[in-house]
Amino acid sequence: MSDPVLIIGAGVAGMTAAVELADSGVNVVLVEKESSVGGNALDLYKAFPTDDCFYCFESNRWRTGIRKCFYRSALLDQPNIDLKISSTVKEITRKSGEFLVKISSEPKYVDNKKCIMCGLCMEKSKAFYLTSPQCQPQAVVFDPSKLDDGAKEAEEECPTGAINLASEETREEIQVSDIVFASGYHEMKPVNVDEYGYGTHPNIITQLELAQVMDPLGEDKGQLLRPSDKAPAKNVMMVQCVGSRDENYYPYCSKICCVYALKHAIIAKTERDANRVSVVYIDIRTYDRHERYYSDAREAGVEFIRGRITQVEPLDEDTLNVIVYDSLLDKYLKFTVDLFVLSSALEPSEDPHNILKSLELGLSSGFLAPHESTPENKVRVGESIYACGTALGPAEIPESVTQARAVASLILQGRK
Ligand SMILES: Cc1cc2nc3c(=O)[nH]c(=O)nc-3n(C[C@H](O)[C@H](O)[C@H](O)COP(=O)(O)OP(=O)(O)OC[C@H]3O[C@@H](n4cnc5c(N)ncnc54)[C@H](O)[C@@H]3O)c2cc1C
Ligand code: SF4
Ligand code: SF4
Repeated sequence: MSDPVLIIGAGVAGMTAAVELADSGVNVVLVEKESSVGGNALDLYKAFPTDDCFYCFESNRWRTGIRKCFYRSALLDQPNIDLKISSTVKEITRKSGEFLVKISSEPKYVDNKKCIMCGLCMEKSKAFYLTSPQCQPQAVVFDPSKLDDGAKEAEEECPTGAINLASEETREEIQVSDIVFASGYHEMKPVNVDEYGYGTHPNIITQLELAQVMDPLGEDKGQLLRPSDKAPAKNVMMVQCVGSRDENYYPYCSKICCVYALKHAIIAKTERDANRVSVVYIDIRTYDRHERYYSDAREAGVEFIRGRITQVEPLDEDTLNVIVYDSLLDKYLKFTVDLFVLSSALEPSEDPHNILKSLELGLSSGFLAPHESTPENKVRVGESIYACGTALGPAEIPESVTQARAVASLILQGRK
């Protein structure tokens, strides 16, 4: 039997590649550093281009009747997938056509296969919590820094014996035939971009944070509220190209932030009762079929200002004064806003153990680049090494899924 395929990252791309390969009879080891699969798409609420989730998932007891998944349930049921959550790859070495991989997994305080989500432990101790209502596997997680007597009681009383507070980190070494990088992207936290004041006022947030605010399964059930005092956010301003197209940060265009900013602007205006939603931009790049978000936003009354922010200052604890230079009118405009939302750059994921360097993989702006021998084949980044989704650069979900399927297809062809 052939060695398994290693996939690093269980976001949309990694999950898709895992399921496609597993369904074709290939064993897969899927390593995810977080305690839940899903990656950045876990809490996005509506996804363009359909304004719905693409891969539907049976509901669970916490959120009956809601469809939302990206192959997540298949990951747990498919016997060919060995899903290792809260795990990281520490080292990879090539050995005569194969790869030796060292994997380390955090202590398994809660056995996710045994947890039935009864909630008893969460009632007894704050050390147990749910990372997200959509988390998969559907199981609570334990934070050892919050260990208290309640946690010990929960360990004794858990109806399925799922809790083991003495659990320890495990390390293992496996041999794999191919490697797939699906380690995704990170939304830049624009703390160093002084002109926008991120981190200085609670009502200055990023688009990913706004998506979580507007998620009906979120903390405030999707209401558009100011983080400072939880009052309705009536005046919202969005700023494009924060950290992107900027030689001081990332010179590239993050490609999808115009589309999701407009998606959010439309939701704020039409579903969340915001009075005024303004988008400050340099260019609006609603590429390909997404131009409809621009026309829909205009129709919904979203205001577009071509220009740049010249000043952001707190007016009081809950509102901000913003001065915008409108380059079309050649005028400075003054706004008072409840929520100032930054469309921040999408940056490459971290590579904490220098795996990319050790495999001598090529990079382009920090993202994985096609292998030089087959530059036309975007998903092949090395000999028996592939990448898909946003590990290759900013991409939407359909594109990430298409690339993941291309990777699965290439690996299957190589095995014939
Ligand atoms: C605000 C916002 C709104 C968006 N809205 C939409 C939309 O409406 N429609 C749409 O199509 N797209 C949207 N996107 C884009 C969407 O998030 C991405 O296309 C999608 O999440 C890409 O999936 P991925 O698997 O490539 O990466 P990710 O979602 O980033 O997943 C990567 C996974 O790899 C894991 N990982 C990273 N490094 C390691 C490591 N070293 N070891 C183990 N695991 C690792 C991460 O924890 C994560 O689970 C939006 C993005 C943002 C920021
Ligand atoms: S008590 Fe046990 S089964 Fe219930 S939620 Fe906690 S870990 Fe899961
Ligand atoms: S997609 Fe739009 S907001 Fe994002 S970097 Fe490109 S032009 Fe700027």
